[in-house]
Amino acid sequence: MTSFLRHFREKDLKETTSTTRKTQCPYCSMQCTMWFHEERTPHAVRHKATPNKEDPVVKEDPVVQGRLCVKGMEAHTHALDSERLTTPLLRKDGKLTPVSWEEAMDWFGSRVKKAQARFGRDAVGVFGGGSLSNEEAYLLGKFACVALGTRYIDYNGPYCMSSAATAANQAFGLDRGFTNPLEDLSLTDCIIISGANIAECQPTMMPYIRKAKAWGASLIVIDPRETVTAKLADIHLPVRPGSDAALVNGMLKVIVDEGYMDEDFVQEHTADSDLLLEWIRMVSLAEAARKTGVPAESIRQAARLYGQAKNGFVLTARGVEQHVGGVMNVRNFLNLVLLTGKIGRPGSGYGAVTGQGNGQGGREHGQKADQLPGYRRIDNPEHRRVVAKVWGVEEQDLPGPGVSAYEMLRLAETGEIQGMIVLSSNPVVSSPQATLVEQALKKLGFLVVIDLFLSESAEMADLVLPAASYLEDEGTMTNWKVELSCVERFENRLVKPARTGASWRRWPEC
Ligand code: SF4
Repeated sequence: MTSFLRHFREKDLKETTSTTRKTQCPYCSMQCTMWFHEERTPHAVRHKATPNKEDPVVKEDPVVQGRLCVKGMEAHTHALDSERLTTPLLRKDGKLTPVSWEEAMDWFGSRVKKAQARFGRDAVGVFGGGSLSNEEAYLLGKFACVALGTRYIDYNGPYCMSSAATAANQAFGLDRGFTNPLEDLSLTDCIIISGANIAECQPTMMPYIRKAKAWGASLIVIDPRETVTAKLADIHLPVRPGSDAALVNGMLKVIVDEGYMDEDFVQEHTADSDLLLEWIRMVSLAEAARKTGVPAESIRQAARLYGQAKNGFVLTARGVEQHVGGVMNVRNFLNLVLLTGKIGRPGSGYGAVTGQGNGQGGREHGQKADQLPGYRRIDNPEHRRVVAKVWGVEEQDLPGPGVSAYEMLRLAETGEIQGMIVLSSNPVVSSPQATLVEQALKKLGFLVVIDLFLSESAEMADLVLPAASYLEDEGTMTNWKVELSCVERFENRLVKPARTGASWRRWPEC
């Protein structure tokens, strides 16, 4: 991203000028690059965002390859909106009143000092967001750990894909969102998408899926709604909300009973499979059908398609993850992946479809309750030593693990957290039990919200600070990965890539 809005605003309005700069869409994890154009005449200012398919950009942006969806094309309208906050607002006599930055910072510093002097360093919490750049997430984490010295920092990731991250950590010992390069989706024989409407939420990912389908891959969509993505599926399983785990249990039952389990893989690469198999023996397909509202025959058909496929992909998203048992839902899907050995090679794997622009980078760079930058654990002495040395502080001065975002709000309710800084999040709207959250925020000694607009949370704040939009910001974001070398090698081994896909699938490895 580059910061250029200021540059545009400084242009002389008397002359007609046009400027084009490269930026990227702030909305989803695809992070599509685009060109942002501005034309200024003495009478009008026009803005337009367009995709770019020219070689240099495509090479710089191999994930989306010059594609852009309508959300990206319209993203600048919110950045250029006349209702943007432009000055700090401090609550005076009950009203948010414009003040100078000096007054705002003096007020902020004194309130933090007072709260920490009276209640201790952990009395102030920091609530970040998944749309911050990697650099901002890093700075926010450092600000909390070193400047404030509080252990209470987290971001809205737990409302997003943190259940998938925890499940992946438990199953693989690693959370990298996607186990393969994104283009591997095109090389697979069967894709299961659960709890995601990729066609509308990450439209520029669809060409990878359409490519796989064009070459004969099956698409299974698990979603209570008949979404645009579900309409493209070979099998749509309209699961009853909250019964995803039961549905996967039914599929696991078929996989085991009909012999689609990869016994060699399970033997060599997994642990405690006997416990899982013992559990699956007790599962009843009829019971799974009753719980999920999906006919047993449809569950069987889906399990057969995935089980018989040579390569398969499972993608999960918020529809599966945003539940009290979200971690176990994802663990069930990972059991499906591991039991069939569909992982660890091109065309086979698992992915948590990240929603927010930088959900992955946000937690990798230090704004998650149990982590330090670089995916280091805050309770690991060695990791603490490394980060303390870089930051020039003593290891023992770094705080310990905090609690997740929602639990921070609960601590505000009990009074353990007295002051909170919210950056790039709107917890009043996005948290579960919104009324309780509102009550918790009201109990705070002070609330600071940093946002582009006067959001529902900002309206409750004592101090509101205007934030920068993607057009005024600079930094890096973490999106899906691709390994062009893999695809290039793959393509080079084909005599003539046929649209039918038979030739593609004859090549087992790339
Ligand atoms: S796919 Fe996502 S990142 Fe790309 S333009 Fe659409 S919303 Fe923006």
